[in-house]
Amino acid sequence: MGHWVAFNLGVLVLYPTVIAPMFNRFEPLQDEALRARVESLLARCGFASKGLFVMDGSRRSAHGNAYFTGLGRSKRIVFFDTLLSRLDAGEIEAVLAHELGHFHHRHVPRRIALMFAASLAGLWLLGWLSRRGWFYQGLGVTPAAGEFDATALVLFFLAMPVFGFLLRPLASWASRRHEFQADAYAAAHARAGDLVSALVKLYEDNASTLTPDPLHSAFYDSHPPAALRIGRLQEVR
Ligand SMILES: [Zn+2]
Repeated sequence: MGHWVAFNLGVLVLYPTVIAPMFNRFEPLQDEALRARVESLLARCGFASKGLFVMDGSRRSAHGNAYFTGLGRSKRIVFFDTLLSRLDAGEIEAVLAHELGHFHHRHVPRRIALMFAASLAGLWLLGWLSRRGWFYQGLGVTPAAGEFDATALVLFFLAMPVFGFLLRPLASWASRRHEFQADAYAAAHARAGDLVSALVKLYEDNASTLTPDPLHSAFYDSHPPAALRIGRLQEVR
């Protein structure tokens, strides 16, 4: 388990500096006006930039986005070239402010801790179930003596999708809550109106419908429907 966590953390650190550059090209951001805007946003939010880059994301997908890397307050900011060509400077600033909101609220470490806790809980549940006769009988299996652990493992992984299905709305709810928090942060540090127009463009590009079925959305979507996010942002404006 410790190795698994170490591996995941290693990937988080190595991905931006070593792995991503193997697959994409990075160039320093040339646009001076945008540079100044981004630097000033970072200063307002208490961050410093360790370089602003443009990545040729258009080679693999049309999904426009931005991300930043680096531990601590000093960040390497990466914009997809598709984002830069699609959004204006204010919208780009608002999208970056949203991402900084995720960092400010420590959403990634929280998610990692939650995944880790869920894995531990799953292993504990497996150990507990493997010593319960009804677990085997309920699933119509009679393991031979000495085969309990192996049988439990197989049954557990067969039954897991059902548990996963039941937990899914909870995970989606937590993830959507994070999106709203990041939106609120963006509205406080950039212009809410810019984030609204950026969202409309990004949701269009990702071919997701602007008004999905609310029940389906509440169950499956890790991101709130655009209309809900825009509604909240307009209350702030
Ligand atoms: Zn987000």
